[in-house]
Amino acid sequence: MVSIRGVGKSFGTNEVLRDIDLTVDRSEVVCLIGPSGSGKSTLLRCINFLEVYDRGEIRIEGKLVGYTDDAQRRRLSNRDLRDLRRNVGMVFQQFNLWPHMTALENVAEALVQVRGMDKAAASAHAGRMLDRVGLAAKADSYPARLSGGQQQRVAIARVIAMEPHLMLFDEPTSALDPELVGEVLQVMRDLAADGMTMVVVTHEMGFAANVADKVAFLDRGRIAAFGTPREVFHEATEPRVQQFLQTYH
Ligand code: ADP
Ligand code: MG
Repeated sequence: MVSIRGVGKSFGTNEVLRDIDLTVDRSEVVCLIGPSGSGKSTLLRCINFLEVYDRGEIRIEGKLVGYTDDAQRRRLSNRDLRDLRRNVGMVFQQFNLWPHMTALENVAEALVQVRGMDKAAASAHAGRMLDRVGLAAKADSYPARLSGGQQQRVAIARVIAMEPHLMLFDEPTSALDPELVGEVLQVMRDLAADGMTMVVVTHEMGFAANVADKVAFLDRGRIAAFGTPREVFHEATEPRVQQFLQTYH
């Protein structure tokens, strides 16, 4: 599903990603963990074509995400880019719902705008997606009337409504009050159980331990440890990994 080979990226003299290799198979959940500033968000943004990288290559479903500086020939046509983007959904720490639209309208809007569905079909589909995240009863509520956890679940419903092949999550529970974290993680667990391919940046070590097929520990732009949760959490010997885990357990 995702193949990352030798990817490097700098912001000026700051080398943010160094020789990253990572493979994500279909229906796999890979959690990216690591200290703040280690490059987790940048890596997700490179996968989702929001960021240019300098070296190496990233492929999604075999297609080159040709966003390297050096090779104009690698650049995707707008049409390829649109198709790739359509297949990759991203959930951010901030939910970014439209405040003047109800939960249902927030989910339906993209279906009308991007998928070209008519309003009735989009609303029906949006209703099913809200049901999937346990929010059928909140369809007519505006974001201001929803808790942070409910807003994030609407944001997830909006992404899954587009039927992505791959979902990227960048600290989806970090902005939430602690008591609301569980409901969002539960929705993510359900998605994983349904076979969604997911790359999840998270500080929720319990989620990583229980749900991830693989865990990658990023440290100063390098993958310092990679493997099953057991391998990374219990068997990794790198001092940096141990140190990090101690602060989060
Ligand atoms: P993480 O998500 O692991 O906290 P980031 O990927 O956000 O880390 O950041 C990695 C490094 O890249 C940090 O040193 C950060 O300051 C730098 N960085 C991120 N985005 C930019 C940018 N747009 N311009 C310059 N530096 C950036
Ligand atoms: Mg980040």
